[in-house]
Parts: sequence; structure tokens; C-alpha cells
Amino acid sequence: MSGKILVVDDVATNRLILQAKLSSAYFDVLLAESGEQALAITLTELPDLILLDVMMPDMDGYEVCRILKSRAATAHIPVIMVTSHNSTEEKIRGLDAGADDFLSKPINDITLFARVRNLMRVKMMFDELKLRETTSQELGLSAFLVDHSFNKDEHGCVLVAANNPAQAKDWAACIRSRLPVSTIIANSEDDATSIARENIPDVFIVCQNLANGGDGLRLVSKLRTNLDTRQSAIILVVEDGKMETATKGLDLGASDYIHAPFDPNEMVARLRSQMRRKKYSDRLRSNVRDGLKMAVIDPLTGLYNRRYATQHMQRIIEQSGKSGLPYAVIMMDLDRFKSVNDTHGHEAGDNVLKEFARRLQENLRGIDLVARLGGEEFLVVLPDTGPAEVEFAAERLRNAIDQTEFDIGGGKHIPVTVSIGVAFGGPEDKIPSVLIQQADIALYESKTAGRNRVSYFANAA
Ligand SMILES: [Mg+2]
Repeated sequence: MSGKILVVDDVATNRLILQAKLSSAYFDVLLAESGEQALAITLTELPDLILLDVMMPDMDGYEVCRILKSRAATAHIPVIMVTSHNSTEEKIRGLDAGADDFLSKPINDITLFARVRNLMRVKMMFDELKLRETTSQELGLSAFLVDHSFNKDEHGCVLVAANNPAQAKDWAACIRSRLPVSTIIANSEDDATSIARENIPDVFIVCQNLANGGDGLRLVSKLRTNLDTRQSAIILVVEDGKMETATKGLDLGASDYIHAPFDPNEMVARLRSQMRRKKYSDRLRSNVRDGLKMAVIDPLTGLYNRRYATQHMQRIIEQSGKSGLPYAVIMMDLDRFKSVNDTHGHEAGDNVLKEFARRLQENLRGIDLVARLGGEEFLVVLPDTGPAEVEFAAERLRNAIDQTEFDIGGGKHIPVTVSIGVAFGGPEDKIPSVLIQQADIALYESKTAGRNRVSYFANAA
């Protein structure tokens, strides 16, 4: 794993020691000797991680961290505070300033690299998400995305897996009294994984030793690899006081750890920091998901758009090439749709399109592709479907539109009909646009023959 790390320390020797250690592990190292310099370098170089000395003249580490975390461009860069005292007060101050982790001087190599690797992984995940978010913005989809800015009082859910029920209850009560979260108590490894299937917590607090001989480290590893819980944060409670346990926990996927017995204030500060990170990644993830969805879905009808349809059709064709089974391509166009808009207004027209899409979906199978190509033009592709079946399906669709009038709002109902053109595809056909064109020719046949009917390309030709 490589990356760019900024080392901030007012003492030259300290900077050089860290530089040597990190360079030997193939990280690119940048150096800053003051808070001000650190802020400037961070903006221009955008490092992947910052090791930040707490005690510095002029501007101390807490202040630098607070500024970094308050700027949108740098808020997601992980910060490890380097302290000389390792006191709980210092940690809480750091966490409140937005620090992601701590190291105490003199720096132990194993601890240093475990934390660096852990935070580097988090950073890479953020980078990946941010990149995808940027792509959807570049596709011009950002206008559709809701801005869910992070609110630090946002509600969350914390699961506590401790080594006995009384302790778990104590911790849960303490957390609830200080943070706007709900808590769930799990009494065993299995308990924790099965609860998480129902209601996925934002943060898991996992004790090294669980009730009934359960193994906290094993649970951490399970949660991290499980699809449902892999995005949740995990705080490991280290009970044997060993640094190796903490390191192992981080390597297995814990987001953070705390030594027991702990100061409740420190636990709360760590929880708050994990919650903040979790909500931030949730927001990025949902923006990406919405962005991808907007890229392939027609917002009015909820059907797939042309971009998706053409691609998916290619897949249906490939499938047919392998299975040897035929498929059918249906083009549909609402009859005299312009007059609906002209007579009843665009809102009525939109209602017709929505209801039309609903009836199509109701009368097709899950494996069928249904798309709105634009305006009042729709495409349906039926995989594994031969001529006899498609004839039946096309008539059923025509009837579904023709038989019941459309509700256009304001208590008004109007008759709607559709013209349909069908083309048959087989394993040897390769190009979606050719089949769409054939179905289009058949559709034109239906229009000229008086509308509200089904025509087939073979007959039209
Ligand atoms: Mg210093």
C-alpha cells in the first residue's frame, strides 16, 4: 500500500525519524514544521494521511486539526495526532477536534504501521466514492441529488457486544445519555450477526472476550466481511492491555479500539468520531447510488431509459447466442398522444405516460426489459420468447391499454390506445439498433393500418 503522508512536527529530529520510517515502507513523505505550513501544504498537496504533532508553538495540533476538518476539501483526510502524554484528556480533546487516531511518543513501529494502514484503507474507500460521485456529477446528474449535509446530531444506532449482560447494559445506558443514538445489546457472536441482519447498526462496540467463550476478534472479522455490515464502524474494546491485540483488531477491520477499563468520555468521543465518518461515507454512497440510478432511469415513469435499454438489449442478445433461444423486440407508440397534451394539458399527458408504464409492467414478466425511449415511445424486449408467445403477449399489452380508460386527474377519464410493432430476434442477430429499426418498421405499419393494432416485421417486409 503506498500513499502520500504529511508529517507535521516543530522538532526537526522528530520529523526526520518519521520520514525515515515511512519512506522505508515506500510511502511518499511530506514535511511541515508548523501548523500554518501544514495547512498550506495540505491544500496544495492533498496528502492521504496526516501525522500531526500536538505540541507546537503558535498553532497547536488541535487547532490545525479543527481547521482541516472544517474545510470541505480536507475534511476527509485522516489525521493521527502524535502526543507525548497519552492522557485521556488529550485524546478527548483530539477526538473533539476531529482527529481519527492517536500515537504516543516514542513511536512504536508496529503501532504506527497498523494505524497508518487502517486509515489509509478508509481514505482509499472515500477517494473511490468521491471519484464515482464526481463522475455522476460530470454526467450532469448532480441537479437530481439531494444534499444530505452531515449533521453531527444526526440519529444513529450502536450495537454493544460485551462479555456480560450487566456490563453491556451499563455501557449502552451511558452512551444513550450522552449521544443521540439508540442502542442494541448482543449477548453472543451469533446474536450480534443475526441482529445486524435485521437492523444494521452504524457502529459496533465489540469486546475482545464475549459471553459464552465468544471471540471478539473473530466477530470483528465476520462483521467486516459480511455484506450487510461491512460499511459499519467497529470499535474493539481491548481487555488484555496488549498492543498486539489492538493491532490485530485493526488488521482484521476494526475502525478503532479502546483499552478497558475506559473513561466513558473517551468512548463517547471515539463513538462520535466513528459516527461522523460513517455518516459521511453513507452520504457519498447514497449520492453515488442515486447518481447511477438517475443515469439509467426515466424520472417520469420509473422505467429504464434508452441508454440502459440499448446496453441491456446487447446482453439479452449475447444470452440468446449462448442459449440458442429466440427473443422478441416490441416497439410501442401511444396513438395521437399530442392531442392529449393539447386538449388536456401536459399534466394530463404525464399521467397517461405514468399509467401506461404501470400497465406495461403489470402485464410483463420480471425478466422482460421495459424502457421509455423518449416522448411517447416505448421499447419492450422479451427474452426466451418465440413467435407464438410474443403474439399473445403483444395482444395482451394492447388490450391492457385499450380496455380501461385512463385517469388523467380532475375526475376525468379518457380512452388511450397504442400501436405496436414486433421484430423477432435469434442467436444470429447481433445489433440492437437493427432489431429496434425492424420493430419500428412494423410499428409504422400498425399506424398506417389505422392504429391500435399489432404488426410483425416479417409481415411488413
Ligand atoms: Mg512538538
